[in-house]
Amino acid sequence: MADCIFCRIARHEIPATVVREDEDCIAFRDLLPRAPVHVLIIPKRHIASVNELTGADETVVGHLVAAARAVAESEGVAESGYRLVLNAGPDAGQSVDHLHLHLLGGRELGWPPG
Ligand code: 5GP
Ligand code: ZN
Repeated sequence: MADCIFCRIARHEIPATVVREDEDCIAFRDLLPRAPVHVLIIPKRHIASVNELTGADETVVGHLVAAARAVAESEGVAESGYRLVLNAGPDAGQSVDHLHLHLLGGRELGWPPG
């Protein structure tokens, strides 16, 4: 997707603070962090949301979670705790239509989320 902002970050066309990258995914700090650690982990391939995932994409989500776990370690929150969030659709407040896994940590996180 030529004009998708997260595709453009994945292609390094617009700046982001990247904390991890491999062939299939990239992790970067959220522009408006909601916690001391707030990283977005995205597939490099454009997938609009969880709703667009097909059976063939099952490994994509597993890969994002594995990358998030590694980021939790490198950010120092693996032991203190963290939350992984996939927002899908308007009621969840999804504002960017490119699948992204939020990693939040570094403070006590309220439950249930708002
Ligand atoms: P959503 O609300 O769709 O689940 O999450 C989108 C997230 O992307 C928000 O937390 C927002 O702050 C972040 N975001 C939106 N645009 C940019 C950007 O250009 N760069 C970065 N690093 N984060 C962004
Ligand atoms: Zn995209």
